Amino acid sequence: MLLIAEQSDGSRVEASRDLGQDTYLCPMCRSSVILKRGRKVAAHFAHAPDSNCPGAESESWRHLLAKRVLMDEFTALGWAARMEVPHQAAGRRVDVGVKVPHPRGTCYIAVEVQDSAIQVDTMKARVEADRRIGYHATVWLFTSHRAAALMYAEPDHEVRVPDEMLWVANRYGQGIPIIDPEERAVWVASLGSIHRDGESHEWYAEGGELTGVDYPGRTLRKTKSIVRTLGGFDFRLVAGKFGDSWAVSFAC
Ligand SMILES: [Zn+2]
Repeated sequence: MLLIAEQSDGSRVEASRDLGQDTYLCPMCRSSVILKRGRKVAAHFAHAPDSNCPGAESESWRHLLAKRVLMDEFTALGWAARMEVPHQAAGRRVDVGVKVPHPRGTCYIAVEVQDSAIQVDTMKARVEADRRIGYHATVWLFTSHRAAALMYAEPDHEVRVPDEMLWVANRYGQGIPIIDPEERAVWVASLGSIHRDGESHEWYAEGGELTGVDYPGRTLRKTKSIVRTLGGFDFRLVAGKFGDSWAVSFAC
């Protein structure tokens, strides 16, 4: 499903209940798409059921709403932003592309919203595609629905963190950004390590001397404690690691 389609004259149009039935084209595959003015879901454009276009993948209303909220907030900050930016050659459609001014020149940032599970390999492929297309950084935002375990954890509770969120925390070193589209808020979840003390055992050789084997404590890999901070949409660019020029920090 799409929020943006092209009209026959090439202009971009955003789905809304006020639009008339006209000829609308998918910006990715150029096939015609149909305006759906759903009562329960936001207005959107839909492909034919047998389409294999990346733009035909179904998206939740939360995902659609999050893209609109990001567009509004980035625009209010004075940043040029585009929703559902098609990159046909790379087979990639960026949820929101935003131009952020920076002393070293304008930075082009690809913002991706995740409302469902995703494989880490898929994320890596998207990041690589974004670099080839010319984006300077890729930002991942999980919805408060997808990251509910992190959003609503009690203080000091232990949470099992999904692999893709651990990957974001490790790769970018800026916590896990979470968008609550209904509240129009961005939160950042920071992860704390949980250490389990190992048991010590004393072992004796046949002669009676202590050889001293014990089980050291270990730090849990996927289970973490969570601290949440309210961020803002006016993110900052910070130095990246693991070959990324930039990472994005939402926390104020
Ligand atoms: Zn398409």
